[in-house]
Amino acid sequence: PAGRRMRLVEAHRVAEEFYLERLIGDKGEHARAGRDFLRAKGFNGTHAKHFGVGFAPRSGDALVAHLQAKGFNPDEMMASGLAGQSSRGLYDRFRGRVVWPIRDITGDTVGFGARRIFDDDRIEAKYLNTSETPIYKKTHMLYGLDLAKKTISRERRAVVVEGYTDVMAAHLAGVDNAVATCGTAFGVDHIKSLRRIMRDEAGGTPARVTFTFDGDAAGQKAAMKAFEEDQRWASQSFVAVAKDGMDPCDLRLRHGDEAVKTLIDDAVPMFEFAVRTTISGFDLDHAEGRVSAMKAVAPIIAGIRDTTLRPEYVRTVAGWIGVEIEQLNAAVRTAPKGGT
Ligand code: ATP
Ligand code: MN
Ligand code: MN
Ligand code: MN
Repeated sequence: PAGRRMRLVEAHRVAEEFYLERLIGDKGEHARAGRDFLRAKGFNGTHAKHFGVGFAPRSGDALVAHLQAKGFNPDEMMASGLAGQSSRGLYDRFRGRVVWPIRDITGDTVGFGARRIFDDDRIEAKYLNTSETPIYKKTHMLYGLDLAKKTISRERRAVVVEGYTDVMAAHLAGVDNAVATCGTAFGVDHIKSLRRIMRDEAGGTPARVTFTFDGDAAGQKAAMKAFEEDQRWASQSFVAVAKDGMDPCDLRLRHGDEAVKTLIDDAVPMFEFAVRTTISGFDLDHAEGRVSAMKAVAPIIAGIRDTTLRPEYVRTVAGWIGVEIEQLNAAVRTAPKGGT
């Protein structure tokens, strides 16, 4: 019901204000560590305010006490995901962490992403995110969507990055259509949200989504998985991966805003990325390697449903591998479908 939602959103608004005050006000004894963490990532107090980034104190129940003083009851604190419950009572869900308010498309804060910053907390997960609540559906959430939706809608282009700091870095670098998933893999629910904003209809000018992920296997696998689910989506997707395993936040820190923009501008089509990545695992100097490479990429090309695009890829990829177009065509015809 609407009244329930309003209460949970209000609890988040109060929490966000509380966390921000702990970071940039003088109320937090450990807030300096939070500010140092952000500075090391290239963000100052103004940036923190702009994105609403705050600091969750280490003590066990500072937020719970604050929410209580503001009139929230235990049920609301639990249901919002802001508090947990032990035998000793309610405690703060996020402690000793830098926190990012996760806003829905209308700009209401409905959850938080939280990064551990103290070394002695290392047994805890690096990131904690709000788990499912009545107002927070984690498979749908895209961090930064409230800021990015205008540009995404106008340009019909979106950029998907891995993390909260990457969204901040991208926006500060002028890539203001960047969003990130919140502790889950990019999936069909995210596709649907972006599609809706880009008014992506069959037959229209194709919209475009550019994925940048950390150069590690996990990120790559997560992005590729999204395409198995949706072919039309695959042909509109581009990939940009920075060198040396850097993410957009690292890139901005080391090489500046322009480098982040260039990374996005130089993205390659998803199919091309998938093919190149696959081919790179084979030794093309020998016939055996070329044949193996051909067999490995054939399912990817067979998965391209766009019948004008597929022959183009066959021609190009045959050249990359160093085989005859007809050879590759035969391999594609007999390949199991299901591509990337
Ligand atoms: P670092 O500060 O080490 O550079 P990062 O901010 O680049 O870290 P990544 O480890 O690259 O973060 O993770 C990117 C995103 O993936 C995070 O913003 C978070 O949403 C999600 N994530 C990472 N680790 C976890 C985890 N242990 N649990 C849930 N989500 C996670
Ligand atoms: Mn990573
Ligand atoms: Mn990262
Ligand atoms: Mn990083």
